[in-house]
Amino acid sequence: MNRQTPEKLFGDLPTPCYIIDEAVLRHNGEILAGVIRRTGCKILLAQKAFSNYDFYPLLSEYLSGTEASGLYEAQLGKECMPGKEVHVFCGAYQETDFEQILACADHIVFNSPGQLKKYGKRAKEENRSIGLRINPECSTQEGHEIYDPCAPGSRLGVTRAAWDREMTPELVSMLDGIHFHTLCEQDADALEITLLAVEEKFGDILPRMQWLNMGGGHHITRKGYDITRLEKWITYAQKKWKLRVYLEPGEAAALNAGYLASRVLDVTENHGIQNAILDASAACHMPDVIEMPYLPPLYGAVSGTEGKYTYRLGGPTCLSGDVIGDYGFDHALTEGEVLLFGDMAIYTTCKNNTFNGMALPSIWKRTAGGKLELLREFGYEDFKIRLGRNIVRQTV
Ligand SMILES: *Cc1c(COP(=O)(O)O)cnc(C)c1O
Repeated sequence: MNRQTPEKLFGDLPTPCYIIDEAVLRHNGEILAGVIRRTGCKILLAQKAFSNYDFYPLLSEYLSGTEASGLYEAQLGKECMPGKEVHVFCGAYQETDFEQILACADHIVFNSPGQLKKYGKRAKEENRSIGLRINPECSTQEGHEIYDPCAPGSRLGVTRAAWDREMTPELVSMLDGIHFHTLCEQDADALEITLLAVEEKFGDILPRMQWLNMGGGHHITRKGYDITRLEKWITYAQKKWKLRVYLEPGEAAALNAGYLASRVLDVTENHGIQNAILDASAACHMPDVIEMPYLPPLYGAVSGTEGKYTYRLGGPTCLSGDVIGDYGFDHALTEGEVLLFGDMAIYTTCKNNTFNGMALPSIWKRTAGGKLELLREFGYEDFKIRLGRNIVRQTV
């Protein structure tokens, strides 16, 4: 992380606010573009992690396109990264969305033989490239079961048993590609294990395919990630099955590319615990801190209860569990002090909410030259707009 104090970097901005750092996005883009250049694979931005489209022109200098989880993200990718590929995977498509999905997406990935049967023919008639998500039943992660699509009973992807039961020759012949997504913040060793499991279970299918999409969860831009090993397995797949590999990382594209600036509003004490209440909320503004859970990096502080002055940082909402975590400081926190959380570009602005009537933090851009530029502000209307009537009168 940058060694300057938060006040120096962002001290005067009204808080809470997100700041997205162009230089870091560019740094990540260069790493990903290197993988594309050396292997001939294609890399897409998974928009569910990061969809601040003001930065799509920058990312499109490096990436091959976008990946969407459904219609709206597909529309956003098509609109805001013009001329680049749009891929979509959805657990199940809705009839009412599908015409528009066909209009936006180049690749459409289905989650089941039933969905392929229902929509595949229409997609083929429109010359779309179509794929099926498989489930290699190979868990390589522990501790985050909600992020493990290979957990027993998972609804995501077709197991080999289901494939053998339900995939008729006609359905198989419709497929252009195979998709798997099983990783989360993992290194290339987990990809290696997964790819070998895919080969063992679906090795007979792959030679007939034009592409293999290896999903997201590749932590490629993290310091120490084994890029050589990643490239080895991309090349292995492309040579062995004569197809094109796609990766669709979300997190890796915008890793460490954002900050959430907040201020201390109050400090209270209970049973020896010092609680610092901030103007930012874990539940509203960094939901993965609670959902995953994880402890975000904080400038000028150490995580845990080490450190001379330790505080439990939490939001101003009424939710007892609206706690970011415990941090140690070299000084006592006082009202008005700025605290700057790191790695806040991903799964934040696209996932936040107005629970408790909390305001949404404004979004700023930090330009490569270090200037701060306001992109988006929110107000009362953004809270109210989702809660009440906007139809003149409609009854059925
Ligand atoms: C979540 C997801 C991604 C992106 O995952 P990251 O962990 O952000 O890299 C890519 N593809 C699919 C199908 C996903 O569900």
